Amino acid sequence: MMRLAYSKPERDAVACFAELCEREGMQVRYDACGNLIARKEGRNPELPAVAFGSHLDTVSNGGRYDGAAGVAAAISVIHSFNLQGVQTDCPLEIICFACEESSRFGVSTIGSKAMSGELKKEGLERLKDNKGITLPEALDASGYTFASIEDSLRDGKELRAFFELHIEQGPYLENEKKQIGVVYAIAAPVRLAVTVRGRTAHSGATPIHMRKDALLGAAEIALELEAMAKRELLNGMVATVGVLSVNPGAINVVPGLVEMQVDIRCSTEQVKRQSMEEVRKLFERVGRERGLSMEWELLSDESPTLLHGDAIASIRSACESLGFSYAVMPSGAGHDAMNMTRLCPTGLLFIPSREGLSHHPDEYTSIDSLSEGAMVLGKVIRQWAQAKGPGTTE
Ligand SMILES: [Zn+2]
Repeated sequence: MMRLAYSKPERDAVACFAELCEREGMQVRYDACGNLIARKEGRNPELPAVAFGSHLDTVSNGGRYDGAAGVAAAISVIHSFNLQGVQTDCPLEIICFACEESSRFGVSTIGSKAMSGELKKEGLERLKDNKGITLPEALDASGYTFASIEDSLRDGKELRAFFELHIEQGPYLENEKKQIGVVYAIAAPVRLAVTVRGRTAHSGATPIHMRKDALLGAAEIALELEAMAKRELLNGMVATVGVLSVNPGAINVVPGLVEMQVDIRCSTEQVKRQSMEEVRKLFERVGRERGLSMEWELLSDESPTLLHGDAIASIRSACESLGFSYAVMPSGAGHDAMNMTRLCPTGLLFIPSREGLSHHPDEYTSIDSLSEGAMVLGKVIRQWAQAKGPGTTE
């Protein structure tokens, strides 16, 4: 699958989806940055809408389910309401967000950021894809203008809640044999660039105890980060050294300089702060014990996002009443739901991904899982869209 944000295939897919929404009697509009909003009025148009959806853009050479699963589940909920003659009190909205993936311009969830006021516009106009097309040019080609993307901003009062169904993109549900993941928090990355300096030396002539091997220091750090993440497994911690450059990079030279990049995520702010303190001490200890000089720079430091307690509770009770097994779990990956928490109570539910594979053509989720997820979503939406449903003050 290749539907890069604001490309013709992606816009065609969104237009095709808009047609499906119209066929279900929904009113369709696009906002200033290309988010599709399809609305079905409820009994009381004065009530805030209950919204749900996901995205249709993909990474380059991605799978069929990331994003699309949530959008397909959303239209199937409306379709089944129509078949059963269900009319809700609140209006219902399906939102298909623009530019969720960062693969084209290096910035993710642009549509939901713009809708929730989280978009930092500065510098965005200079972003280019790998063909040299800028974000403003891509928007223009799709019929939008960069100057007005902030007009996508919505008032939280318009929405009672937002729910997103998404494939897990990890192996947890499949391994634990659970049908549904009830997400309580979305982890955000802390990213570090670490420079380890030792002393370049001859690999044959320098005795092993007289070396200052920068790679061995980096390796110890990587293993210690793994151990730390395992200790904080229940807090959803993961730590990854995804970039490592060894200098001078010759077979007969003890590495004198290593540059590494570290990505650490967990689901609570408190654990994140404690862990960052632990990481700082780790760098100092490894530097001291191995005679290495350590420098580190914070590339990004974002806070985990908590999903709404009432949203979590209603997804759990929907699973229980349908007899589906579930796990309450954090999400290691970012989603549009993360930004929507700034606007209204937000919930996120996962369905299993085969072998945890995602952002890959072999990504797969069974039709059973898709329909189970859609059933849970439908139940949750029905509950929230009652005049006195969750999220009302009474
Ligand atoms: Zn996605």
